[in-house]
Amino acid sequence: MELTLEKTRSYAERFRKPDTYGHFINGAWVGADSGETIALTNPATLETVAYIQSGNAVDAKRAVDAAYAAFPKWSRMYPGERQAILAAIAARLRERIFDYAMMEALNNGKPISQAINDVSRAANHLDTYAGAPYEMKGETFDLPDAIVLTHREPVGVVAQIIPWNVPMSMFTMKIGPALASGCTIIMKPSEVVCLAVMEFVRDIADLLPPGVLNVVTGYGQALGEPILTDPRVRKVAFTGSRATARKILEMAGQNIIPQTMELGGKSAHIVCEDADLEKAAASAVTANTYNKGEMCIAGSRLFVHRKIYADFMVLLREKLAVVPQGDPLDPVTVMGPQASQTQFDKILFYLDLGQKEGATFLAGGQRASIPGLEKGLFIQPTLLGNVKNEMRVMQEEIFGPVTGVLQWDDEDEMIRQANDTEFGLAGGIWTQNLDRAHRLARRMETGMIWINRYLNLKPNQWMGGVKASGFGREAVRSTIDHYTVMKSLVLNLE
Ligand code: NAD
Repeated sequence: MELTLEKTRSYAERFRKPDTYGHFINGAWVGADSGETIALTNPATLETVAYIQSGNAVDAKRAVDAAYAAFPKWSRMYPGERQAILAAIAARLRERIFDYAMMEALNNGKPISQAINDVSRAANHLDTYAGAPYEMKGETFDLPDAIVLTHREPVGVVAQIIPWNVPMSMFTMKIGPALASGCTIIMKPSEVVCLAVMEFVRDIADLLPPGVLNVVTGYGQALGEPILTDPRVRKVAFTGSRATARKILEMAGQNIIPQTMELGGKSAHIVCEDADLEKAAASAVTANTYNKGEMCIAGSRLFVHRKIYADFMVLLREKLAVVPQGDPLDPVTVMGPQASQTQFDKILFYLDLGQKEGATFLAGGQRASIPGLEKGLFIQPTLLGNVKNEMRVMQEEIFGPVTGVLQWDDEDEMIRQANDTEFGLAGGIWTQNLDRAHRLARRMETGMIWINRYLNLKPNQWMGGVKASGFGREAVRSTIDHYTVMKSLVLNLE
């Protein structure tokens, strides 16, 4: 299918009359107890694209009731049945990739071409987990006087909370291992962006027995506590900010439930003097601009070797200057608007702070004005120079198209600085020297590293961080470890 601006704009017309999504509880669409809704906005125009329910403790309890009631039957299904359902969910997603991508573009502001990538990736997650029900197995261990057996059992009802930056990918990455393991779910998507997720739930509702997947929408402050402190909820999987993670960990501590935490980052992208500079510069542009920098894995600290700094920066600035910024519905667009007013304001705050800390703009540095989309929340792709690793703009997650550039010549000192951050999510290395690539990779305190291409996300790649970037690994088959417990059984032979 050829993607044209005419086609995407005409598709977008249908959102002029915004739809309202209910909570999805026990297989039915229901209104919020509060009677209140929240508007989902298009950040390119500030128009409302849909409404979702504003949930509270009453809605949360209904969702937990449903998930708890559905658990016994769902968890005792034959693996092949759950496998068939997961495969059918993946097929439904693939049938409407363009629709979901359009909804992600309209609600999040991500360019349609990237939205198509993200939604395709979401389908890959479901493929990964479709085979996982057959991994629900234990082991035997023979002793002279006994046999030790293990059973792998689903933990039960799980809570899953996801952010607004890559909603479809987050949604499938979360529901995949839970459904495969036989857990039942209370999902809380972001109140800022969840249009595609809600539409997808509508689309797959008939594939799942009632109560297996429940989706409640609304503000985290209203829904977090009633869901996470309900003693019937046996696990929480969270993706979002460190500040929210701290609150969730406290709530999860109440009933001592296990957690997986996928949090923020301030990842180091390292360019050595022997790197392919053309490719490294192109990669640094992607690391800054993909999803308008609203990526947990953004390469927001760029370490460039002093010997090639001048040449590299010429290439980088040239490439950044021609990044097509504008209407996310235009297939040629590479950078759309930031996803929300809050996020937009936060990035501008950091641009101001950077200047106060003594940084200079090597590129960008302010709001971008896009003809025809004057209200849109656009920010220029920005490079910060004259920075020190200890500055706040180099330590705190900005979550926007802002990269701080540092020069280095001593490898030990560079690695010390690369690791001198509270976060440890991703990292990138550019060098033609294999030994050096491995040596640096081993020394980086981070959960994911790409060599000679940043943001090179692959299906079935372990996702997750160290330090304040969280714990637990997702997107791989073995994520079912987080959704299952091992029970050991000793059979006495004497
Ligand atoms: P956020 O923490 O503000 O919100 C995430 C989710 O938590 C939302 O659904 C929100 O409603 C909910 N929430 C807020 N307060 C809550 C509470 N008290 N109890 C329960 N739930 C609550 O994060 P965000 O701004 O939506 O997302 C951006 C953050 O997510 C960034 O830090 C980014 O790095 C991180 N992120 C990490 C990954 C990863 O894989 N490591 C991926 C994407 C995004």
